[in-house]
Amino acid sequence: MRIAVLGAGPGGAAAALALARGGADVTVHLPAVRTEKPCGGALPAYLLDGLAEPALAAAPSVKVETAILENAASSRLEVPLDGLRIYRRRELDAGLLAAAVTAGARLSEGRVRRLELADRVTLRGADDEPKRYEWLVAADGALSRSRRRLGLEPAAASVGLGASVTLPAGAAAAALVLGFPDLGDAYLWIFPRPGGVSVGIAYSAELLSHGAARACLESFLGRHLPAAAGGPRYRYPIPVFGRQTLPALRLAAARRVLLVGDAAGLADPLTREGIRPAVRAGRWAAESLLAGRPDDYPHRVADGLAADMARAERACRLFYEDRIGQWMVPVCRALPGVRRVLGDLLTCRQPYRGLRRRLLAGALRGQ
Ligand SMILES: Cc1cc2nc3c(=O)[nH]c(=O)nc-3n(C[C@H](O)[C@H](O)[C@H](O)COP(=O)(O)OP(=O)(O)OC[C@H]3O[C@@H](n4cnc5c(N)ncnc54)[C@H](O)[C@@H]3O)c2cc1C
Repeated sequence: MRIAVLGAGPGGAAAALALARGGADVTVHLPAVRTEKPCGGALPAYLLDGLAEPALAAAPSVKVETAILENAASSRLEVPLDGLRIYRRRELDAGLLAAAVTAGARLSEGRVRRLELADRVTLRGADDEPKRYEWLVAADGALSRSRRRLGLEPAAASVGLGASVTLPAGAAAAALVLGFPDLGDAYLWIFPRPGGVSVGIAYSAELLSHGAARACLESFLGRHLPAAAGGPRYRYPIPVFGRQTLPALRLAAARRVLLVGDAAGLADPLTREGIRPAVRAGRWAAESLLAGRPDDYPHRVADGLAADMARAERACRLFYEDRIGQWMVPVCRALPGVRRVLGDLLTCRQPYRGLRRRLLAGALRGQ
């Protein structure tokens, strides 16, 4: 069985690696020129456990041990973090792809321009040469051509407005800062990363205008890191898990396409974290194909993600609409037990399942 993986971000690279390790005939289609994906680049360190790939081990990253949280009243608090790593995406993606190539995945360089879906999947690049496969793992990101080709609506998207900033020599390395400005479901970030920082604001366009989001970001940076204020900003969708996610996966699988990562709309609606779900989905897609049961893939995503993402959506309403977000800083200051739970949530060690129970226990213990 010949399998194509379209895209070599975390979702595509993880799928290709698992397929190649399982002995599949897999070709990764990726652009000839690799650019930096607009992204904070933060992920839990354990996600990469078991990938003893030299290129990945050599990829520079920053290990962050505390986060500063700031609410709309400018109240601040430090939360301990255990095992959060921040990468430049170009290096993280290159490391994951190198692991897949070492395991036996082939590369086909050049942007895919056309997809034909019939009894097989045909991909064509600029040379119009047809490349035929039995299955396609479509991990081509938030602007997915595959998703459009399937006639699917775009996934529900948040927006990330931000920049990767190289700090001038001598500028202090920033701490990790998260700001909760009480504007719709927006939050702000400063992530120290190799050579500089990633800064930005994540928000929903129906709740906050672009101008207001930008003004909020610049004022946040003015307070915390003036060296990164002003300058060009990117704006890029973050497709979050929603009602349309699973039906889209089923429809695509019926046409020999397994949608993975942002192409599927899998990011967490509260934190907008998308790297971990993309990697997990890439592995599930590969395992379903290797088992000869690609139709199982939507079930794997449903079993592995749907319940927690539904809880994330509920937590999102509590956090942003019911103002728990604004109470979080004073509550965490008073209750170290709650502070620890929050740190675990930020490093993905605490799933949404059981969160309420642990928060209550932390509050009751009061230490
Ligand atoms: C501003 C911002 C900040 C974020 N911060 C974080 C964060 O800190 N932590 C986190 O976990 N998540 C974060 N996310 C989300 C995260 O970036 C995505 O969820 C994640 O990159 C999804 O991975 P993916 O492999 O599905 O897609 P992508 O990483 O977008 O990879 C898709 C790949 O497909 C390739 N491709 C696309 N079309 C074609 C084509 N026609 N032919 C060949 N190749 C093609 C692209 O070049 C790309 O390499 C952030 C998102 C944004 C916008």
